[in-house]
Amino acid sequence: MTLLEVRNLHAVLAENNEEILKGVNLTVRSGEIHAIMGPNGSGKSTFANVLMGNPKYTVTEGTMRFMNKNISRLSVDERARLGIFLSFQQPQEISGVKLRSFLMAASQSFGNKTPLLKMSQEVDRLAYNIGLEMELIDRYLNVGFSGGEKKKAEIVQMCFLKPKLAILDEIDSGLDIDALKSIARSINEFRYSENAIILITHYKRLLEHVEPDYVHIYVNGTMTITGGKELSVEVEENGYEGIFGSAKGA
Ligand code: ADP
Ligand code: MG
Repeated sequence: MTLLEVRNLHAVLAENNEEILKGVNLTVRSGEIHAIMGPNGSGKSTFANVLMGNPKYTVTEGTMRFMNKNISRLSVDERARLGIFLSFQQPQEISGVKLRSFLMAASQSFGNKTPLLKMSQEVDRLAYNIGLEMELIDRYLNVGFSGGEKKKAEIVQMCFLKPKLAILDEIDSGLDIDALKSIARSINEFRYSENAIILITHYKRLLEHVEPDYVHIYVNGTMTITGGKELSVEVEENGYEGIFGSAKGA
């Protein structure tokens, strides 16, 4: 089943009308993992934010459909309820809200009727699985967390909220190899035939642990090349310049 269908998506920065997305196309079906790679500043995070409905950006052309519904005018909250999840490149610190209560409240607002004690135990289980210190679950969200702990907390959120489409923006950046493996293991456990994942990453390292079905290279606000996992190897060996050089020559 097609989960996400993006056609010719153009978006500008709301504050100055600068066009950042210049015609993005992407189709994601359930069960698939898509990796998006591309140079810094090419618009990957912007694409993720536009999918989630961040009001900093305005869609000027094209369509975004999720489960056959036009989501262009929906709020961030409405998109989250439909089952879209975004893990930020730089997770925000939220003082006054504990990770555990945040998760349980979010899940209840999505209609989860599981008894609180069971929900709470599920948070414990997921944190334990990924190797997140248990005491962090009852600290304010991301406050004083290390970079790796923030990323693990994002994955705990994803696993707990069970979105249909998870967009992970550089979930692997700044992780040591053990943290990377823990995160990869949790992503693989989360993955099943009815959900899908978009992994935005610079490195094939993550893709060695979480096998993508498609790798897209994204340059200057648009997807330019799509291939399989081998494309991520090519990126690391030859850089983006090497790839575009060879693409032009082909
Ligand atoms: P990537 O994630 O691929 O590194 P981004 O989507 O973060 O790229 O950024 C793409 C371009 O858009 C960059 O030139 C960046 O400076 C600009 N941009 C994106 N969001 C903003 C913003 N909120 N304010 C100003 N510039 C932005
Ligand atoms: Mg980015």
